Amino acid sequence: MGFDLEEIEKFRLSGKILCAAREEMRGFVKEGMQVIDVCEKAESLIREKGGFPAFPCNVSINEVAAHYTSPPGDKSVIPISSTVKVDMGVQIDGYVTDTAFTVSFNSECRSMTAAAEHALKLVIENIHNDMSVGRIGGIIESAIRNHGFKPIVNLTGHSVGRYLIHAGTSIPNVATLSTSKVHTGEVFAVEPFVTQPDAIARVDDKPPYTIFRLIRAKSVKTGYAKQLLKHIETNYRTLPFTERWLKDVVPQNQHAEAFKELLKQKIITSYPVFSEASKRPVAQAEHTLLIKEDGCEVLT
Ligand code: MN
Ligand code: MN
Repeated sequence: MGFDLEEIEKFRLSGKILCAAREEMRGFVKEGMQVIDVCEKAESLIREKGGFPAFPCNVSINEVAAHYTSPPGDKSVIPISSTVKVDMGVQIDGYVTDTAFTVSFNSECRSMTAAAEHALKLVIENIHNDMSVGRIGGIIESAIRNHGFKPIVNLTGHSVGRYLIHAGTSIPNVATLSTSKVHTGEVFAVEPFVTQPDAIARVDDKPPYTIFRLIRAKSVKTGYAKQLLKHIETNYRTLPFTERWLKDVVPQNQHAEAFKELLKQKIITSYPVFSEASKRPVAQAEHTLLIKEDGCEVLT
């Protein structure tokens, strides 16, 4: 059921590259900086270190909890006093690791980040083979509430697989009755999301749509759409990508139409941005864990 040793070695390499890239990113993010510079820095660090981005670097600001990456030519900047989540992933031969950190330029929001990190630390210290995901959610929820904040109820961690970021099992951020369990040799991303005590503490799906994924490879007639699809299948398979990575695949003046064709034919799909329903700021921490008999190994 779990991964074999050879696969685990690929996860370890993936996580080692990601950890090094994340640590370099921590000091990089500044107020007033362009979001696209943060995304591109994170992705180029991953490539420099010998990895491949498993998904576009997500830079999600204030009430945006997840799933924003810069589209090509993005002019948005990191606002003054904002809370910024940077979420990054690496794949080595398809073996995905996933990590995130929060920087807050607002001292009042810094304690939310501490709560997210503490919840994650408690999971790392207590998780083991055969623990139910509902109990893991309970550890996260009580840690966050003990800090005086709320967990986001409809965002979860997830099992990861080869070329799969969400491999089927969710790890809730609240206590649930779910009896599905984690097992030795399986790999999970655990990601507590924290918001303010007066928040609704749910996220809604919203535009813009800046992250995409292949859903089915069917044939397309138009030449440029076909060329674009081939590039996506070869380079990203079932992993998410951004239009920033598709520059120069087809002539620039043909790109928009070819891309629209793939969306229209439902060959690719888009991820909406997740935004806290009451527009309260959100903090996140995330590590990828290899489950062991009596504990876990932090891969990132
Ligand atoms: Mn992530
Ligand atoms: Mn994740």
